[in-house]
Amino acid sequence: MDTFEQRTRELLPLKKEERWKRYDSIKEACLCSSCPSFTGSAEKNGEILYCLLGMSFGCIRDDRGCICPGCPIYIEHGMMKKDFCMKGSEKDLRWEMEVGTR
Ligand code: SF4
Ligand code: SF4
Repeated sequence: MDTFEQRTRELLPLKKEERWKRYDSIKEACLCSSCPSFTGSAEKNGEILYCLLGMSFGCIRDDRGCICPGCPIYIEHGMMKKDFCMKGSEKDLRWEMEVGTR
């Protein structure tokens, strides 16, 4: 089991309120607002933490690069993918890749 799977497993017993608290506690470390792909619309809608919460609701569609691999949350969670705002969360992308190999 890799680090990301371990982190995901730790969340399983948590109630949704506890998960929201956990996400709120790490949001400040997210680097998305400094990314060239991030937009004013995404900021206005309070979007952030795409790696865990999933893709943007239409606020980011132009790929101008992704700075996720340099983010402390990325490293701490052992993530491997990127462009989460345009493609979906790390969990979604891993699942998609697995489906594609079946
Ligand atoms: S890995 Fe990317 S989406 Fe996740 S918190 Fe860091 S900058 Fe934000
Ligand atoms: S997920 Fe990656 S591409 Fe999207 S805004 Fe965050 S750092 Fe930029």
